[in-house]
Amino acid sequence: MIKNDLTKKRCLICGRDESKAGYLIDLDYNETIQRKVYLCSDCINHCKDYLDSYQELFEKDLSEKTLKSTRKPEEIKAELDKYVIGQDDAKIALSVAVYNHYKRIAGLAGKKRKKDKKEDTVEIQKSNILLLGPTGVGKTLLAQSLAKIINVPFAIADATTLTEAGYVGEDVENILLKLIQAADFDIERAELGIIYIDEIDKISRKSESRSITRDVSGEGVQQSLLKILEGTVANVPPQGGRKHPMQEYIQIDTTNILFICGGAFDGLSEIIQKRVGQSVIGFEGNIINRDDNNKDSIESKVESRDLVKFGVIPELVGRLPVIVPLRNLDEAALVRVLVEPKNSIIKQYTELLKLDGVELVFTQDALSYVAKKAIEERTGARGLRSIIEKVMIPVMFKSPSLENLKKITIDEKAVSGEGEAKFEFGE
Ligand code: ADP
Repeated sequence: MIKNDLTKKRCLICGRDESKAGYLIDLDYNETIQRKVYLCSDCINHCKDYLDSYQELFEKDLSEKTLKSTRKPEEIKAELDKYVIGQDDAKIALSVAVYNHYKRIAGLAGKKRKKDKKEDTVEIQKSNILLLGPTGVGKTLLAQSLAKIINVPFAIADATTLTEAGYVGEDVENILLKLIQAADFDIERAELGIIYIDEIDKISRKSESRSITRDVSGEGVQQSLLKILEGTVANVPPQGGRKHPMQEYIQIDTTNILFICGGAFDGLSEIIQKRVGQSVIGFEGNIINRDDNNKDSIESKVESRDLVKFGVIPELVGRLPVIVPLRNLDEAALVRVLVEPKNSIIKQYTELLKLDGVELVFTQDALSYVAKKAIEERTGARGLRSIIEKVMIPVMFKSPSLENLKKITIDEKAVSGEGEAKFEFGE
């Protein structure tokens, strides 16, 4: 009954004493089994081999899963086309960046598995993305649609709500909590997710000249963001809110999270113009014409140094290697936004009325009017919904009480307020 003699110093796994197993490593007192624990080196090595093979299986699984879910750039773009109108350059850049991102993850897992680091020395850097463009051009929609297409968890955060640790406001870690929640607390899934950070331009260094109301310098927030963008193991308070010394944290590795940042960067085109003007036209100064069409092409010339000049710290710019300018949507594009995407606002109303057996028709003039109005209001596609709702809410209020209603036509007069929606009745 030697094995049951718990007072003797023995390996917890094989039960051998030091005379047979050699030196036993002391692991201190264990609360669960209420005794001091020793392990021999044979058993420790055995456990290590076991853990390694388990890790290999896990990484193989991760790499296969990731590869399987990685669609080719052309496929990603074709899917994006179903949700987002126009912005072709942005869609192509994003499709390539996302494809490379997930291929990189799959590659990393594969490389670890094969342990052939010597042979394969090219390290592919993570390429987080910066979307530049005014409000309502589809920055958030692009990021959101991407996450949907490649089926990874997605979270949106607003950079203006973030503060440096220790100040009143949101800690950067709360962004990660949103992603963990979107992944139903499956940390491994969250670690492959996408985070969209909006209004990144509002935390620029020259914050005194921009419209932010907090007294915290943008630079501190940029530094905290930098950490999670570069890849770190972050401690996230499970309930959100501030960190607390007594709290237990969720640990999440941000190395493989894809960050997409977005911002309007008002004033950036002037910075680019100045640089381009100087280098192209030299001493003659800035002759570049400033009309709106030219603005699009100017922004496509953006370089990292322009962002640094704008007030983004160079380290953060360095972590956003893919810079994608988005274009203002013109009238034709806005009309397409109204009718074409899978869940466009007009499709939604049409579907709702169809359930009552009523056909909804928006005339071409009406659609153009709505698009022009949104351009006037400078809200991009964001403003379309409220213009349409203004005309549709009274219609939706009235129509269910109208017997034998078959068709509703909305023309330009109905949307401009000069006239009303036309109702047609049948049997
Ligand atoms: P941003 O993030 O650039 O301010 P959003 O992506 O939030 O703009 O756009 C607001 C809304 O406008 C979206 O939910 C979508 O309905 C519509 N929208 C904007 N741009 C587009 C686009 N290019 N294609 C289709 N819909 C768009």
